[in-house]
Amino acid sequence: MSFARTTDWLHLSEELYMIKGTKWKTATLSRTLIVLAVMDTAPPAVWAQASTPYAQINAEAASSAITVKPVRGSVTVLEGSGGNIAILSGAEGLLMVDAGIAVSAAKLETALQGIASSPIKYVINTHWHWDHTDGNGWVHRKGATIIAHENTAKHLRETIRVSEWGHTFTPIPAGDLPTRLIGRSEDVAFGGETVRMRYYGPAHTDGDLSIYFANADVLATGDTWWNGLYPFIDYVGGGSINGMINAMKANISMSGDQTIVIPGHGPIGKKIELVEYRDMLVAIRDRVAELKKAGKTIDETIAAAPTALYDSKYGQGVIKPALFVALVYRGV
Ligand SMILES: [Zn+2]
Repeated sequence: MSFARTTDWLHLSEELYMIKGTKWKTATLSRTLIVLAVMDTAPPAVWAQASTPYAQINAEAASSAITVKPVRGSVTVLEGSGGNIAILSGAEGLLMVDAGIAVSAAKLETALQGIASSPIKYVINTHWHWDHTDGNGWVHRKGATIIAHENTAKHLRETIRVSEWGHTFTPIPAGDLPTRLIGRSEDVAFGGETVRMRYYGPAHTDGDLSIYFANADVLATGDTWWNGLYPFIDYVGGGSINGMINAMKANISMSGDQTIVIPGHGPIGKKIELVEYRDMLVAIRDRVAELKKAGKTIDETIAAAPTALYDSKYGQGVIKPALFVALVYRGV
């Protein structure tokens, strides 16, 4: 455990304190810090005690196996390293949509070799978040070209504090940065596929790309869709609840009834689930806006449980109802 990460843990704990509105015991916090400070690698058991999105997702990646699921045609999805990773396998090599968390590198390499013993040619970062870009280093060292929207590349060069994760992200090494930048859209022929990259406009962040494999009819949405889960929304990185809703509308319009949709998090799904998800976002956005307009504070809005109808379906994951309400409140 590095000093920097230990410091981040302190911030993370402070932020969690604010998010939950409950008081953590200083002694408990200190013990946690001491344990983390003396270890080279935090064992999953320690991380598993954490209850912020950042810590939970890292803990899951550290302890999780990589699950390989064929999707359709030459497209496969790998689960278990932060966000979902879509793989297109072709004669020229492999194209990855997102790179996962670096701690999973060895497990991901093994999984990729099980798909094809081909080099990784391209990695498309759907957005800048570490659970999609932390693996850029190892895939770049394997020779892959990293593709992303220009705002994603910008954020990866910045120091950004994301308070809801309690983490300050620092610029990634220059060699791990995307070198092929996308503006609004670009199509690439690769592996017998037409790979369509489209910029959503501001959504989950301000650099989200959708990736559509036209022949396989498979759409990868990045974190504009979290199937079965409330989403995180990165306001510091240019996202908003209204941007998320607009992105869901784009996902629906890009999908036909047979399209298989790979979300940023959660299992693959279909258009009908995109429609349900958009409707959920709209309903909660409207309810939270009403409460805020009526003068309710953020705590009063959370207490009013505006997500109650949806919590059993979407509130069991890493983004709990209270955090999601706080994220929506910020944008209405
Ligand atoms: Zn994200």
